[in-house]
Amino acid sequence: MINIKSEYEIKIMEVAGKIVGDTHNHLKRYIKPGITTKELDEIAYNFIVASGATPSFKNHEGYPASICASINEEVVHGIPSNRKLKKGDIISIDIGACYKGYHGDSAWTYPVGKISKELELLLEHTEQSLYEGLKVIRPGVRVGDIGYAISKYIKNFNLGVVRELVGHGVGSELHELPDVPNYGKPNTGPLLKEGMVIAVEPMINLGTHEVFIKNDGWTVVTSDNSPSAHFEHTVLVTKNGIKILTKR
Ligand code: MG
Ligand code: MG
Repeated sequence: MINIKSEYEIKIMEVAGKIVGDTHNHLKRYIKPGITTKELDEIAYNFIVASGATPSFKNHEGYPASICASINEEVVHGIPSNRKLKKGDIISIDIGACYKGYHGDSAWTYPVGKISKELELLLEHTEQSLYEGLKVIRPGVRVGDIGYAISKYIKNFNLGVVRELVGHGVGSELHELPDVPNYGKPNTGPLLKEGMVIAVEPMINLGTHEVFIKNDGWTVVTSDNSPSAHFEHTVLVTKNGIKILTKR
């Protein structure tokens, strides 16, 4: 069943989403060569807690940190460590915050210093693919329409759309129904209704779409070692379209 949020729940989720957006804004100024992903994790943890929320990911299915920090060929679920960021890297930071029992979820890929033109374009196209997906959302549209819009846009650039990981409903659970794949056929899948909250999150690779999970049991990497980008917003389906809850 896909939850329709009450006005009360939406008010709380707006706050949760704002905390996630604010955490990104706060964290991004620290993303520089030399900082470790563990340091970024601590900064995010402190900010989320000071905002009156808790990190959604910490202990979620046993996940050991507050954020996911995925560098270069790491697609998602990179575990913060003592690895230092280097100039020319890209880093995908995924942040979740739980406020009064409700979650917000947003990922963004950041350049570390100056990056190559190829990577700049990967980030630009992946971010735009998120907006292409969000553009079609309104009551009466089906989930397949979102994935269709994302993959149709990405087709222009010969990039890989990750299929194994998908967006999702958000609410009192971090991951609720429906699944929101980044590929699909128009007019297929669950029907979207006013009051639903979903996270749309294209993961796009510079090479193959294929990925695998590393031995740590978490980190998802591209099969051909090509860099990968990830952009995600949690959005509310409104009467006429959407409201982005995790805006910065
Ligand atoms: Mg996320
Ligand atoms: Mg998500």
